[in-house]
Amino acid sequence: MEIKKEIALKKIPTRTSEKYRNFPMVPRVVFGNGSFDQLRDILLSKRRHSEAPMIFLLDDVFEGTDLIDRIPNMFCDQIIFISAEEEPKTEQVDALVQKIKKQFHELPSGIIGIGGGTLLDLAKAVAILLTNKGGAADYQGWDLVPKKSVYHVGIPTISGTGAEVSRTTVLLGPHKKLGINSDYTTFDQVVLDPDLTKGVKKEQWFYTGMDCYIHCIESLNGTFLNAFSKSYGEKALELCKEVFLDNLSDSESRDNLMMASWHGGMSIAYSQVGIAHAMSYGLGYLLGVKHGIGNCLVFQHLEEYYPEGVKLFQQMVKKHDIVLPQGICGNLSEADLDQMVNVALGMEPLWENALGENWKSIITDDKLKSIYMKI
Ligand code: NAD
Ligand code: ZN
Repeated sequence: MEIKKEIALKKIPTRTSEKYRNFPMVPRVVFGNGSFDQLRDILLSKRRHSEAPMIFLLDDVFEGTDLIDRIPNMFCDQIIFISAEEEPKTEQVDALVQKIKKQFHELPSGIIGIGGGTLLDLAKAVAILLTNKGGAADYQGWDLVPKKSVYHVGIPTISGTGAEVSRTTVLLGPHKKLGINSDYTTFDQVVLDPDLTKGVKKEQWFYTGMDCYIHCIESLNGTFLNAFSKSYGEKALELCKEVFLDNLSDSESRDNLMMASWHGGMSIAYSQVGIAHAMSYGLGYLLGVKHGIGNCLVFQHLEEYYPEGVKLFQQMVKKHDIVLPQGICGNLSEADLDQMVNVALGMEPLWENALGENWKSIITDDKLKSIYMKI
């Protein structure tokens, strides 16, 4: 019960006087192949002076590639390579902030995250912690960040999470896996250059792309659905179907998935995800299974809840010859299963979105365990 309480996602609160949430959006975005090369000009007007660097947080998969030469690395700017092997942690954010503060007397002019959801989330969190005291874990929750963050830019190199548009950065902390949800989390600038996603391996392309597909299915089939979410969710779903079921050219496929990710992210901003995400959090918390693949592992067994969505998912798996790993939960003890169930059930708004207000009388521990056992 301890964990369940700790990671409990409160029903997304509005500020006291708000009837409807007043969401920040990314104020500037550039889209197009090669748009990455506009970064130099974009950053120029944001450089305070030569002692206030731009810090580029870059997925280390790009180490030694020609992308490095295209980064507008000037004055005392710094490129920090980061592995996306593991999902971002609060202590990792704190260490990065300490490193930057120790090295530079001036606050950076900007933080630029280049990579997948892992790097985008790290960039958002570092930008927040550079201007707000304490550690990243202090801000996991809703609207706990008092001060504006450092100017920050998100440049996705793989499409699907929607982290480029969202007002959250999901972090694994000492006690919980939870986002820093705040108006200061959202990027000030996003660069959408589909060519940057060229090197993504097929399995990873599929798993991260399915994160977007599952965002759409869970949002469109949820009880929180409204016209705002629906308009974005339907577009994202249409694009996902084209990408994963039609025969698009590689270039069209990259363009469409990048925009699907954006729309999918917008769709859940004003609603919520559902069962696959709740249960995937359990897998992530206990076993370190990453977000995209975790969602797929759960979603394949949710035909009872999302019949049409799962049917299409199976078609996509087949078309792309994806073999999902098996036996992940095979050797887990009863205590492990209990812990995963508690983590999953702690995501209350996700269950309420999926099953309605009476979700507690619909879903049982045994039901969740039986689904986990199939994975
Ligand atoms: P990722 O950042 O974890 O990267 C997955 C793999 O793809 C890594 O090995 C990475 O090195 C590789 N990769 C990335 N770009 C590449 C490229 N162009 N060429 C070759 N390899 C490349 O992947 P992700 O699925 O985008 O992100 C997952 C993370 O996003 C999780 O930590 C999850 O919690 C987070 N997330 C955040 C939000 C949000 O709104 N903030 C939403 C969903 C997920
Ligand atoms: Zn997701």
